[in-house]
Amino acid sequence: MAKLFATEAAGRIVDRCVQLHGARALQRGHLLEHLYRDVRAPRIYEGASEVQRTIIAREILGRTNR
Ligand SMILES: Cc1cc2nc3c(=O)[nH]c(=O)nc-3n(C[C@H](O)[C@H](O)[C@H](O)COP(=O)(O)OP(=O)(O)OC[C@H]3O[C@@H](n4cnc5c(N)ncnc54)[C@H](O)[C@@H]3O)c2cc1C
Repeated sequence: MAKLFATEAAGRIVDRCVQLHGARALQRGHLLEHLYRDVRAPRIYEGASEVQRTIIAREILGRTNR
């Protein structure tokens, strides 16, 4: 749950920062350009977000059915 929350939040936050700073944020060498690429991969590896949601939902639903 922590991994899903943190990686999705990081993606949203950096995306908003890029929007706020405009085209300059996408120039090579800009910190946000680096972060924009950096925060994308963790939503895929070590359990993609969609798969994490399925696992969490199964766990929660499993608990309520016990
Ligand atoms: C930067 C980076 C580093 C990596 N390092 C390593 C490493 O060190 N060791 C290693 O073993 N692997 C590594 N990987 C691979 C990583 O584990 C896989 O990319 C990851 O498991 C997802 O598999 P996939 O890319 O084949 O995507 P797929 O499994 O093909 O998934 C593609 C899309 O479909 C979605 N999807 C898949 N199954 C379901 C489902 N059942 N329900 C809903 N949606 C689904 C996924 O969420 C994703 O959005 C790395 C990947 C990256 C990007």
